[in-house]
Amino acid sequence: MTRSTAVSADRLRRHLDGRFASSRERARELAKDPRMAVTFGRDSASQRAQTLDRLGTLVEMGRTQGGFPSRYGGGDDLGGWVTGFEMLALGDLSLLVKVGVQFGLFGGAVLHLGTEAHHRAYLDDLMNGRLLGCFAMTETGHGSDVAAVRTTATYDPATEEFVVHTPYEAARKDYIGNAAQDGRMAAVFAQLTTGAEPKGVHPFLVPIRTAAGEPVPGVRIEDCGHKAGLNGVDNGRLWFDSVRIPRGNLLNRYADVAADGTYSTPIENPTRRFFTMLGTLVQGRISVSGAAGSATKVALAIAIRYGEVRRQFGGTGDDEIVILDYLGHQRKLLPALAKTYAIHFAQGELVSLLHDTTPSLDAPPGANGLPDEDPRRRELEARAAGVKAIATWHATATIQACREACGGAGYLSENRLPTLKADTDVFTTFEGDNTVLLQLVSKELLTGFRDHFGELDLMGTARFVADQAVDTIVERVGGRRFLQKLRDVTPTSTDDGAIFDHDWQLDIFEWRAKHLLETLAKRLRNAAGADDPFAVFNAAQDHLLATARAHIDNVLLSAFVSAIEQVDDGPERELLVTVCDLFALSTIEADRGWIQEHGRLTATRSKAVIAAVNQLCSQIRPHASTLIDAFGIPDEAIAAPIATGAEQTRQDEMRVSSQ
Ligand SMILES: Cc1cc2nc3c(=O)[nH]c(=O)nc-3n(C[C@H](O)[C@H](O)[C@H](O)COP(=O)(O)OP(=O)(O)OC[C@H]3O[C@@H](n4cnc5c(N)ncnc54)[C@H](O)[C@@H]3O)c2cc1C
Repeated sequence: MTRSTAVSADRLRRHLDGRFASSRERARELAKDPRMAVTFGRDSASQRAQTLDRLGTLVEMGRTQGGFPSRYGGGDDLGGWVTGFEMLALGDLSLLVKVGVQFGLFGGAVLHLGTEAHHRAYLDDLMNGRLLGCFAMTETGHGSDVAAVRTTATYDPATEEFVVHTPYEAARKDYIGNAAQDGRMAAVFAQLTTGAEPKGVHPFLVPIRTAAGEPVPGVRIEDCGHKAGLNGVDNGRLWFDSVRIPRGNLLNRYADVAADGTYSTPIENPTRRFFTMLGTLVQGRISVSGAAGSATKVALAIAIRYGEVRRQFGGTGDDEIVILDYLGHQRKLLPALAKTYAIHFAQGELVSLLHDTTPSLDAPPGANGLPDEDPRRRELEARAAGVKAIATWHATATIQACREACGGAGYLSENRLPTLKADTDVFTTFEGDNTVLLQLVSKELLTGFRDHFGELDLMGTARFVADQAVDTIVERVGGRRFLQKLRDVTPTSTDDGAIFDHDWQLDIFEWRAKHLLETLAKRLRNAAGADDPFAVFNAAQDHLLATARAHIDNVLLSAFVSAIEQVDDGPERELLVTVCDLFALSTIEADRGWIQEHGRLTATRSKAVIAAVNQLCSQIRPHASTLIDAFGIPDEAIAAPIATGAEQTRQDEMRVSSQ
């Protein structure tokens, strides 16, 4: 198989690098720095020391301030910072997660939930690594259901302090990054009570360690111990025994308590208030999906490079076949590569939207005293939840496939895949469990849930859906650019369209998402009058999840098509169209049973889709390495010996010696 020379990996890379290209270039330089070299096999203590040391190096290099406001010494460049974070995931994933905890979660809580006094007091130390902190939301008893955490913060007007307390064992904070060793302060989410009235979950800054590294009086800290991966991060548990903090430690952007205990808030509905607070932290989810994409690219780079040189069967010596020439091997890797491209473009859109819709600290207040919320923000939150779920599941599945694609060599730690697997596994759980996140996507499609009821309030959803015309709901899934693209397409109930026609593919994707949403809305309407609405709703949960997946598939395909539209005619565009076809048709292939059941694909056309996926795999195969090179991953980050030029020589020598 000869490799195409017409397509330029450099030109492709320029398209992939997109709006925040300079951040990507800076991150590539960083990945080549020997201080960031990929390591493996260290014990937890030395891995933690290495991670902390590397965090210090990033601070010294000025790589940690970019996402913060310039008035506090930051770079005012959120999109660039999130892109740099995505690229950091090409290397040490413990460092990535420690950076995420410190600057994204802890820093994000102080920046977005605090006000000027907090910014002045903490941001400089925080950005520059002098104040390491935690984001303490999850409890042992409540992880996904964060509105139900049980830690209490009771206001005492006599001393103008909050008393933070862990009322029982299940209310201890759990899995908290930076807690076991390095964190000195935590943003703690607790149920606020003032004047004997419960006010719901609010964030508080609670010191947890002295400058000497000892727990402060009243705080108990325990190490979570060894984990499946990410052992450079010190995850821990926290208990509070009536710990007193000053009134000013309430992060009070969305609610405040006056000296006499009077409570005030610009958002009266407690559920809406809490989810508005969480919405400001959407950057964390977007950062995790980007990181998952980078780890997936590294795994694919290793497996595809190895697949180009490893030979098995087919004779002796030079007659033996390179494994990437086997259709089964192409099927293992190339549809996954195509989906990785789709996720890359959808991720780029998310980061741009985040950058453009995050209000500056100087934004004028709206009617409620808060910066006016951009209506695109809600779409961003739902999309971020869905893309995070799909990107992290894709990482888990693809890294496993890449490990298998490298046979025994893939199991050796020096070849990176075992560590990549272990370190990215939990991406499907933290920053929101994927199954729970997909439910948010469908609920947003159904109702615009946040204004009306809680995140997972089943009764509320059922009642609201019953009041809505199904047509109105279904319009929400269409709309935007998509309908525009599809306006000339005549919907067909058969299989008249040409399967390589993007309009036909988009039509199938769009129709599937609409149909799932429409039938879901109809089912849920029945719940409102039912004796047991929970049972009706719960019986439709698989349907809810399928609806979200179909919607996100649409988002990915739409992003891919839009990205292609930015590329001038030429070999790169042609290749991207082929890769997009492979993403679309392999997605249709995976769900072809359902599509056929619903009358949109005849058996003949369904078989044609399978044949088309095979054909696309063989068309893309000569370009596989170019598509990988276009990611621009430095060799120092790939690091696996089986993915270097030397591996070709080693394989050649083995062939010679066995002849
Ligand atoms: C390494 C690591 C680092 C972490 N770092 C932090 C941190 O720094 N700060 C912090 O606050 N938290 C942190 N977390 C906690 C993390 O955010 C939670 O683990 C996560 O939110 C899931 O909560 P849980 O573990 O209680 O799982 P659960 O919520 O108990 O979920 C268990 C299972 O139940 C399913 N499930 C739950 N609810 C539903 C439902 N309604 N419908 C269908 N299925 C459902 C889920 O899909 C999942 O499969 C970390 C966790 C880990 C492992």
